[in-house]
Amino acid sequence: MQRIPQILEKAKKAYKAGNKRLALVYSKKVRHLSNRHKLRLPIAVKRQFCRHCSHVLIPGVNCRIRTREGKLVVYCLECRKFSKMSLR
Ligand SMILES: [Zn+2]
Repeated sequence: MQRIPQILEKAKKAYKAGNKRLALVYSKKVRHLSNRHKLRLPIAVKRQFCRHCSHVLIPGVNCRIRTREGKLVVYCLECRKFSKMSLR
């Protein structure tokens, strides 16, 4: 569980360094860990991944965030899909 934020940081760093594939490997690892240990990821962590392609989402870099009807609408530029998230 403590490892998840660390992996998340690595994923972001890898992405910012231009290594999208490595970032994807890290974000899949987070997903794998949470499944294997039956952990519920904190919402703050969950929001940082695309639901469809599990890419790490960095606002202004590979995703656009809007609010609509009290919900967060995240548009992933990797897979061009929308994810709706509750603000609460
Ligand atoms: Zn995506």
